[in-house]
Amino acid sequence: MLYQRSSALFREAQKYIPGGVNSPVRAFKSVGGVPIFMKSAKGAYLLDVDNNKYIDYINSWGPMILGHTHPIVLNAVTEQLKNGFSFGTPTELETEIAKLIIESVSGIDKIRMVNSGTEACMSAIRLARGFTAKNKIIKFEGCYHGHSDAFLIKAGSGAATFGNPNSPGVTQGTAQDTLLAVYNDIESVKAVFENNKGEIAAVIIEPIAGNMGCIPPKKGFLENLRKLCDENKSLLIFDEVMTGFRAKLGGAQEFFNITADIITYGKVIGGGMPVGAFAARKEIMSFLSPEGPVYQAGTLSGNPIAMRAGLTTLSLLKNDLQIFDRINTTTQLLATELKNIFKEAGIKVCINQCSSMMTVFFGRLEVNNFEEASMADHNMFNKYFHYLLKNGIYLPPSGYETWFISDCIKQAEIDKTLEISRKFISYLY
Ligand code: PLP
Repeated sequence: MLYQRSSALFREAQKYIPGGVNSPVRAFKSVGGVPIFMKSAKGAYLLDVDNNKYIDYINSWGPMILGHTHPIVLNAVTEQLKNGFSFGTPTELETEIAKLIIESVSGIDKIRMVNSGTEACMSAIRLARGFTAKNKIIKFEGCYHGHSDAFLIKAGSGAATFGNPNSPGVTQGTAQDTLLAVYNDIESVKAVFENNKGEIAAVIIEPIAGNMGCIPPKKGFLENLRKLCDENKSLLIFDEVMTGFRAKLGGAQEFFNITADIITYGKVIGGGMPVGAFAARKEIMSFLSPEGPVYQAGTLSGNPIAMRAGLTTLSLLKNDLQIFDRINTTTQLLATELKNIFKEAGIKVCINQCSSMMTVFFGRLEVNNFEEASMADHNMFNKYFHYLLKNGIYLPPSGYETWFISDCIKQAEIDKTLEISRKFISYLY
């Protein structure tokens, strides 16, 4: 494959944009090489500016659960555009999408739309602090909840990939209110509660971790977390930016049958447009401005184009509930077959899969937390990444990221991925 035009565009982009990209993990910094500039996408495939075609296992980092440019979503957005781009007033669409989400998810009565997952999580902890009148939060090492200051403490995703999970620019005052625990280790959470009695406003967690690679919660972990939060009168925040309307219609809450106090959304609920949201029961949401004193606002929040894309996507999901089992089964099949291929070749690998999310961790038999994800063989992942890329398969460019499977990934795409993975092994040895 040739990357001539991507290379030229990247050189040009670097002159004007830090690192040539508008979000760090796109830069291929950890896997090396030139990031590929895409020009279009359809179904399961991406097309780059050199006319190379790829099976897409990123799906815009999660939102494109239906695959790219779904005709019904495309048509709805095109129609909506004709009415205007943004009004800065309430619209009927906002109530429609709010109603659909609230009816699909347990434990929430009201929802506020924002423009990104970062905003959703940032606002969720402000609300939790306002509601509980406590200051500290607990987050898990390797989890990522967007790039607001309070979360860039041992953060996952790009922050982990580039080796700076504690970002300069975050003041000590902010950092000291974010306490850390170890994912899948309830004793570590208990210890933090013990040492900070009466001070914890909330525990925020990715119920299926996706930002240190895919790491599912161990059996009982989320249940015990729920119990600890109740015992300590702290709120449990599920960051469902990845898992919302992906794991199930009711998200990870439905997948694991656990109800959190506040839920944050992004990705799928915007159908590919910049959207986030946070939701909770009435009692908590009534603290939010203009009903209550906790301030939060946004010029483009509830933007009609974004709402139309989101509402249409969520309606399609709601009308085809089989989709969740279908993509979960596809992902399970891919993970199982890949594992067999590597196992037969004597390559040590752990493939974590949960719902339609998965990650290949080379050099490990188990990965249950951030430390274990860090011990995976990331050099081997980089080789695998580039081999697949050259052969028309687009993986997330970091071993700390999750693959997202869309409903357009079918047997043909799986077969090709398995075939190229077999060839990768022959190429290695
Ligand atoms: N929370 C989780 C679990 C995420 O995966 C992300 C982004 O990947 C965010 C929050 C932040 O969302 P955004 O990038 O839309 O700000």
